[in-house]
Amino acid sequence: MNAEMLRVDHLGRSFRTRDSGDAERWVIQDMSFSVADGEFITVIGPSGSGKSTLLNLLSQIDLPSAGEIWLEGRCVSTASTAVAKPGLDCRIGYVTQDDNLLPWRNLLDNVTFPLKVQGRLDAAGIARARELLAAVGLEGFEKYYPHELSGGMRKRASIIRTLVYDPPIILMDEPFGALDAQTRLQLQNDLLKLWTAKRKTILFVTHDIVEAIGLADRVLVLSRAPTHIAAEHVVDLPRPRALDELLAQPGFAALHERIRALVR
Ligand code: ADP
Ligand code: MG
Repeated sequence: MNAEMLRVDHLGRSFRTRDSGDAERWVIQDMSFSVADGEFITVIGPSGSGKSTLLNLLSQIDLPSAGEIWLEGRCVSTASTAVAKPGLDCRIGYVTQDDNLLPWRNLLDNVTFPLKVQGRLDAAGIARARELLAAVGLEGFEKYYPHELSGGMRKRASIIRTLVYDPPIILMDEPFGALDAQTRLQLQNDLLKLWTAKRKTILFVTHDIVEAIGLADRVLVLSRAPTHIAAEHVVDLPRPRALDELLAQPGFAALHERIRALVR
């Protein structure tokens, strides 16, 4: 087993809500899990179960109300941490649910934007961006603006924009939810290819059971609110995986059924 990359220890997040009469309502409570370096983890839970809240905590946009987050052996976030450090010095990449491309920048300028903001955009960075764009079939579209690209192309661009500055951990929030089935399948395959080539640690949030199993080394199943990890399942389907033939894989149906019973 590889070294531990990320550990979540008795994590909690509560919000003060109007409908609960200003009382604290726990969205995440007593959540613990760890992720090994290079592992592909999917997190599955129904809508409203606290998936985005979890990713906001991990990406350091938001701070926990209880518990700790450890990254590469270092405690990076606790309830007493005073200020959030989004992205933690570019160690953590976050592909949000919406692509958030800048409409006034072309494709190449969009995917190199993080490097520019970080003051380290050079010829090597541009070359790497071009190479990554080509790897997902976007060669020749560098000068196109977001409105000239399809939803699938924009989604690819938002993933490349995160890969280009090379964070060891990538968080993804239901990135393929809004796409049609064919495009989604293509992007899932692209993502697996990129992951195989770069060996990033990925935490991928979804509410789709087939997607959760198809991509992952390990599936974490969230409980009902307040959310914690209800179960985890190791996926030992062979790689590389043909995602369009998953259903025929021995073991797939049984695993799908076990997770479905939990998510229901
Ligand atoms: P998911 O991503 O699984 O759909 P979320 O993490 O977005 O779920 O939300 C989980 C719950 O936390 C929801 O009930 C939501 O209303 C609540 N929540 C999230 N952020 C806040 C906030 N800033 N203030 C109050 N409640 C919040
Ligand atoms: Mg969400």
